[in-house]
Amino acid sequence: MITRRNFAQALTGAAFAAPSLFPAPAHQPNIIMIYADDLGYGDLGCYGHPTIRTPNLDRMAAEGLKFTQFYSAAPVCTPSRAALMTGRLPVRSGMTRVLFPYSDGGMPDGEITVAETLRGAGYRTACVGKWHLGWQTKYLPTRHGFDSYFGIPYSNDMTPTAGPGAPGSAKSPPLPLYRNEEVLEREPDQSRLTERYTAEAVGFIRQQSRKPFFLYYPQTFPHVPLYAGAKFKGKSLRGLYGDVVEEIDWSVGEILRTVKAVGQDGNTLIVFSSDNGPWLIRKEFGGSAGLLREGKGTTWDGGMREPCIARWPGRIPAGRTTAAVASTMDMLPTFAAYAGAQVPKDREIDGQSLAPVLEGKSEGWERTLYYWSDTELRAVRKGPWKLHVRTNNQVDQPGGARDVNPPLLYHLENDPSEKYDLAAARPEIVKDLLAVLDQHKQTTRFGELQR
Ligand code: MG
Repeated sequence: MITRRNFAQALTGAAFAAPSLFPAPAHQPNIIMIYADDLGYGDLGCYGHPTIRTPNLDRMAAEGLKFTQFYSAAPVCTPSRAALMTGRLPVRSGMTRVLFPYSDGGMPDGEITVAETLRGAGYRTACVGKWHLGWQTKYLPTRHGFDSYFGIPYSNDMTPTAGPGAPGSAKSPPLPLYRNEEVLEREPDQSRLTERYTAEAVGFIRQQSRKPFFLYYPQTFPHVPLYAGAKFKGKSLRGLYGDVVEEIDWSVGEILRTVKAVGQDGNTLIVFSSDNGPWLIRKEFGGSAGLLREGKGTTWDGGMREPCIARWPGRIPAGRTTAAVASTMDMLPTFAAYAGAQVPKDREIDGQSLAPVLEGKSEGWERTLYYWSDTELRAVRKGPWKLHVRTNNQVDQPGGARDVNPPLLYHLENDPSEKYDLAAARPEIVKDLLAVLDQHKQTTRFGELQR
């Protein structure tokens, strides 16, 4: 049986670094985007978790840049992934709601993904992991700019047999595992998914090519049901959830090691983040938002503020932390800037290039972020101020979601936990932000809603 150690050696071949096989010009770095599923702001060692060990991500942060005010564009899977792929608010693409195995919708043809943008600039591209932007063939990654795809098309609980932490869905067919556009297996052993994704990712990085590469690695976990590989199960002090996160950390370590082994350490931008906050109603099977309020499915910061780590030795100065406000929608403009690719000009792009922040030339600038939940605009952040006009909780009571009474105003830099409502004390800020929200609502054109 293959062990973790010889598995890793077989994959990375650390003794056989071959930089000459990768002559991609320095102005076009390789780009790796790793995107965890439902990982909370407080779930990594370098973000303060007391018992989950994440030495590889901690090292990635120590060698790169750690964001403390980085946001996904939505509090659930599908829209946040759509926003990452397009650099646009989910309402613009119509990808506002979680897609299911019985959904007809998917990422519209007319959207331009980051993979298409980079492939157009000469990159080879791969998607490894959970897609969740439409399961029908016409919506798969191979139809949206990726040369290859290996993974599951939607969440791992969308199966009749979901395990630890998830109820499963009798309405769902057996979970398919795809290679490109073919179903390779049904109901794959989920405890081996991270290991298999890692092998795919490592294999892609090691392919000999004159082209730079873009690897998009959206993880299946720690979305429930939780499954850890044999080497990780029962090892974390945090229980099964910690086992799963520690295996993801191992996977990141294999990728870091492989990039180094092929001589591309100084020419590869790697970004790690998560699609939305922790699924708190799953209790011990869900993660932690740390000091942030609430989690997945809500527009409190715990639902949308995420860990984000960026590493590119020689280009991103090591060991820094930034409070610059940033978003997953910034990835497309950032990657395009480094690749010398054209950001689409014929449409609204909500992100901005983070290159000055990454390179330590800027501490950020005032950003205005909109918190959409499906097609409802619920809150806005402008500078340090956040105004909620409608919100809900997932965990305050056993009966489920509960509305709380807006408007609510918080100063997120003083009060990241959104505890002290200042709406009554600062009516002029409330008025200003209501106007910002109104303007955004009036001017935002919705795409055809995908269901
Ligand atoms: Mg998710």
